[in-house]
Amino acid sequence: MRYLGQPLHGLFCLASLGEAHQTLLERLCALLIEGRGQELGRATSSRAVLEVLGGELPPDWPSARITLANAHGLHARPAKILAQLAKSFDGDIRVRIVDGAVGAVSVKSLSKLLSLGARRGQVLEFVAEPTVAGDALPALLAAVQEGLGEEVEPLPAVSAQPAQVDIEPVLSAPLSGSQLQAIAAAPGIAIGPAHIQVPQVFDYPLRGESAAAERQRLHAALSEVRTDIQGLIERSQAKAIREIFITHQEMLDDPELTDEVDTRLKQGESAEAAWMSVIEAAAKQQEALQDALLAERAADLRDIGRRVLAQLCGVQSVQEPSEPYILVMEEVGPSDVARLDPARVAGILTARGGATAHSAIVARALGIPALVGAGAAVLLLNAGTPLLLDGQRGRLHVDPDAATLQRATVERDSREQRLQAASAQRHEPALTRDGHAVEVFANIGESAGVASAVEQGAEGIGLLRTELIFMAHPQAPDEATQEAEYRRVLDGLNGRPLVVRTLDVGGDKPLPYWPIAEEENPFLGVRGIRLTLQRPQIMEAQLRALLRAADNRPLRIMFPMVGSVDEWRAARDMTERLRLEIPVADLQLGIMIEVPSAALLAPVLAKEVDFFSVGTNDLTQYTLAIDRGHPTLSAQADGLHPAVLQLIDITVRAAHAHGKWVGVCGELAADPLAVPVLVGLGVDELSVSARSIPEVKARVREFSLSEAQGLAQQALAVGSPAEVRALVEAV
Ligand code: PEP
Ligand code: MG
Repeated sequence: MRYLGQPLHGLFCLASLGEAHQTLLERLCALLIEGRGQELGRATSSRAVLEVLGGELPPDWPSARITLANAHGLHARPAKILAQLAKSFDGDIRVRIVDGAVGAVSVKSLSKLLSLGARRGQVLEFVAEPTVAGDALPALLAAVQEGLGEEVEPLPAVSAQPAQVDIEPVLSAPLSGSQLQAIAAAPGIAIGPAHIQVPQVFDYPLRGESAAAERQRLHAALSEVRTDIQGLIERSQAKAIREIFITHQEMLDDPELTDEVDTRLKQGESAEAAWMSVIEAAAKQQEALQDALLAERAADLRDIGRRVLAQLCGVQSVQEPSEPYILVMEEVGPSDVARLDPARVAGILTARGGATAHSAIVARALGIPALVGAGAAVLLLNAGTPLLLDGQRGRLHVDPDAATLQRATVERDSREQRLQAASAQRHEPALTRDGHAVEVFANIGESAGVASAVEQGAEGIGLLRTELIFMAHPQAPDEATQEAEYRRVLDGLNGRPLVVRTLDVGGDKPLPYWPIAEEENPFLGVRGIRLTLQRPQIMEAQLRALLRAADNRPLRIMFPMVGSVDEWRAARDMTERLRLEIPVADLQLGIMIEVPSAALLAPVLAKEVDFFSVGTNDLTQYTLAIDRGHPTLSAQADGLHPAVLQLIDITVRAAHAHGKWVGVCGELAADPLAVPVLVGLGVDELSVSARSIPEVKARVREFSLSEAQGLAQQALAVGSPAEVRALVEAV
């Protein structure tokens, strides 16, 4: 048989699910390149095929684990009994040693079982084809537990527990009417159809019919895509989004791209193959420049690449629903979120991700309710499935019934009303019922944010994340560029105070033009003040720019990630030295409390600093030892954990004992349940995203200082964040 003029020896079908099939596909390609295609031809069962591919089993096959208790391990006799039992099931069953170096082997093969060399105390993991897993896995576990024909001494401690049968269900879409718990990433209730964005897979021939025919197909596809993009430009409300699509148009019309494609067409390639090779090569070239902005261009190139390819392959790209929808993605990066049009995206739902990851912060800033880390099953939802997303409680309702929908709509509307009332009073000070003032400031990332912060009622900027200014430039911005940026912020504040954080990069915030040596644990590595103290020229340039921009306006400078008194003193001394050169009238120097050691040293530091600002995002991550962006654990990284509150309490007591003030600029400051607790602990200033200011001010007005103090003392005495939340909710 021939295909496209070449002999065809076999057809290999590989089902795809997101990126899950990729490893197998790569192994298959490697096998063919090695000239071992014939072996596949001889493999007649799925087990044999997998064996030839030498690969892992499909990740969604059910599995079960048990610790082997046989004194001499899995030697010939017990292995034979295990193999015989496995053979009584008509499907593929494999086993591996958890944490072992060898891959899974067929349980039906005695020699393979022996080759595992499993010893007493090692954990075996059985994996079985879904059709037999339900019967086979419990039977195998029971047999292993009974000793496979041998008398076994129970294992000590943990392993002496009864065998743990942990059959994971085959991954399937959440059912209609079901409810899922995920990580609450941005508050609000969103209702809308699911719009699933998973990478599409395309299949196309590598060789074309004729250069002329392929050229014509390509031109037709390009023209269709151009029309589509024009529609998107016309529909987009936001300028930033329109600009992205205009760039896409320009890329489509780039003669260099089309010339290179044409050369390939003349060499006999199909339009699809030629187009994608050229796009991929161009994208790789951009990425190699290691420049943030150009790297983003690579993503744009791939984006238009896929659009044109979809057109050529006749694959309908999933149409965006016409009504506001819930965007469902595997994971969403900060730049993905920043591109979204809040008018069209009612909510965001991701399979992976964490609540204080920077993408979640961007979602909150845009006011789009978001849930993250909901699990891979959500990617299997049918497009258009009605979803109800509760970004406050972290809940997702799939195809909710009318009553649930009705309740949520009422809650959404009443939240909106509350926000409207809060907004009407956004320029009033935030006074508790007994007249205690709490300053409410804004967190911003770029100078342009200051106007809307003031408009939302900010009494100052409590955190200017200067790294975003650095990230917006292809090279480190020089002193003059920085000075102009800082001046713009101070101008926009009209005499209100500005708290600036010096450059905080490293961890999850790398700077492309400052390659940082790869670290196993970047969050525990060279980041924040540790990094800038190693690069004094950069730090000095930033400090000079800040001092120059200040004139007589209130400037507060703080240093991120300080963990020791020495770090603070080094940063302070550098600033004081520069201040001799560039005098400023109203300057305070402080540190962020993000590392537990800094909080514990607050009694020492408070004598020297002018203020503290608690970065609860990092303080929580480091206190609880949970990565703030961890896909499954970060829901537990709750800043209302009493351990974190204890550290804030130490900080505030120390500061107040020396007449210094304390702010909180982490995401916790905007959590309505946290506001009374923080105020009760004595926090003087809350700094939140501009959008949250009216709500936080309104929240402060709901309680008295003495009530808040009582609540804070109770919160310090309990053992979990859930108990703290319950205490606040009960008031
Ligand atoms: C924090 O850690 O709480 C903080 C405000 O800093 P960032 O989120 O930018 O790390
Ligand atoms: Mg931080």
